[in-house]
Amino acid sequence: MKTPEEYKESLREMRPNIHKFGELITDVTTHPATKRCVEGHARIYEAAQNPDYENIVTTTSHLTGEKISRYLSLIESAEEMTANLRLKRTMFHLTGTCTGGRCVGWTSLNAMWATAHDMDKDLGTHYHERLKKWLTKAQAEDIAVAGAMTDPKGNRTLSPSQQEDPDMYLHVVEENADSIKVRGAKVMIAGVAAANEIFVLPGTGYKEADKNYAVAFTIPRDAEGLTIVEATHPSDRRELEEGFDSPPKTGITQAYLFFNDVTVPKERVFMCGEHRYSLNVVLNFIMAYRSAIGACVAGQGDLMLGAATLAARANGLTEKTFRERLTKIAINNETTFGMGIAAATLGKKHPSGVWICDPLLSNINKIYVAALPYEAKVITQDICGGIGETGCMPSSKDFYNEKYGKLVQKYLKAAAPAEERARIARLIEWLTIGAGVPGCLHGGGSPGGAKIVIWRQIDLDKFTSLARKLAGIKEQAPVAEK
Ligand SMILES: Cc1cc2nc3c(=O)[nH]c(=O)nc-3n(C[C@H](O)[C@H](O)[C@H](O)COP(=O)(O)OP(=O)(O)OC[C@H]3O[C@@H](n4cnc5c(N)ncnc54)[C@H](O)[C@@H]3O)c2cc1C
Repeated sequence: MKTPEEYKESLREMRPNIHKFGELITDVTTHPATKRCVEGHARIYEAAQNPDYENIVTTTSHLTGEKISRYLSLIESAEEMTANLRLKRTMFHLTGTCTGGRCVGWTSLNAMWATAHDMDKDLGTHYHERLKKWLTKAQAEDIAVAGAMTDPKGNRTLSPSQQEDPDMYLHVVEENADSIKVRGAKVMIAGVAAANEIFVLPGTGYKEADKNYAVAFTIPRDAEGLTIVEATHPSDRRELEEGFDSPPKTGITQAYLFFNDVTVPKERVFMCGEHRYSLNVVLNFIMAYRSAIGACVAGQGDLMLGAATLAARANGLTEKTFRERLTKIAINNETTFGMGIAAATLGKKHPSGVWICDPLLSNINKIYVAALPYEAKVITQDICGGIGETGCMPSSKDFYNEKYGKLVQKYLKAAAPAEERARIARLIEWLTIGAGVPGCLHGGGSPGGAKIVIWRQIDLDKFTSLARKLAGIKEQAPVAEK
């Protein structure tokens, strides 16, 4: 398995194709715009080497029997899905941020494993064998794999082939015996700067007219024809700052990937035109992802619980003053974590061997994830006071300024020394409005989409029949369409 330094070296060896603020980033491991994202992911490699975390971060390959990163493993049971949740909560504790440049690719390969199996069985294709070969190599090389599903989508009411611009969804433009060519984009992709490869999946279910959009494959992050532009976000300014203004030296980035007729060799292609299976792979993905994201936000919530308590103490108050509010954060953390575990426990094994989480509970978890962490953030900012809310505090440069630094320090001091109070405040800013915030609302899909799945899962026939029985109604009432 790779050491953190070997991992960083593997990123340095790649062709530069990532841009930000008009600049081509030649080394993602040192450039201010990407180095924190790389550092967060490097902590996964570091944890894999640490006996305290080894069992959480690594597992045994079902393909080779070798020790591998859990991020490249097949999730074959409820216990392994629970281990996924534990890993995500732990990684948030160790990094203070999202490490989507490994976890989305992990979920993608598991989703594809089941769908490739279904396609081969029904259609006589050979996708599963290809995926197995790719995964064996990926495990041996211990690569970081980002996951890309989200298309730009253009007008949301139109299907891909109805769009004015056919490139609004990534699609196949050419196919020959050895390769395919793809054109379009995938947007808002987490941790691409920290990834060696990208696992590309279709963004939604497609009909016959849109079959060219039903495409899945893996690609090196530096593939020819792939141009990447990093998104900018409100905490960019902080991340560029040094000193205590940018508390954890980690972070996450989201990227726009532009595919300009990119060639993908067939051995990396796992779906090409089988439109009936595109929704299947998307659903496989969201069930695992929406179960596990409950652990990411719980991990982040744990940090808010710790930081809010420290802020109270720094102000001369005790945690008792804020007992009700701190308890609420703890309840929220365990609600999303527990719901994720429940979705895992009530899941079932797919014939391919992959564990599929319960569709109803994983989507309900998505609704909680889209709401509860925001409540925890409000409580954390409330307890800290204005210096944690929107960074209402001079910079660390001013804090140490020869002329007036002493004044800044004098008036920032409370029950705790000024620097301790300032550091807690910056951490709270990071956790509540900075890059420490996981994509609670839209990461893993919007709550609106989750509600559609939940509605479809509700067995109203069963419940009306139960209610009819208890009410003593014998006649079958007319059934309205759901
Ligand atoms: C922090 C973060 C990290 C992310 N990381 C990744 C990643 O690693 N990989 C990846 O593939 N994606 C990633 N995403 C993208 C994410 O999956 C999308 O943001 C999400 O699927 C929603 O898509 P959208 O942003 O285009 O919003 P839209 O789909 O436009 O949704 C906006 C709103 O409109 C509603 N809506 C949309 N279409 C319709 C319709 N036809 N009818 C009625 N209502 C509609 C939605 O429910 C929602 O309320 C990330 C996003 C975030 C914020």
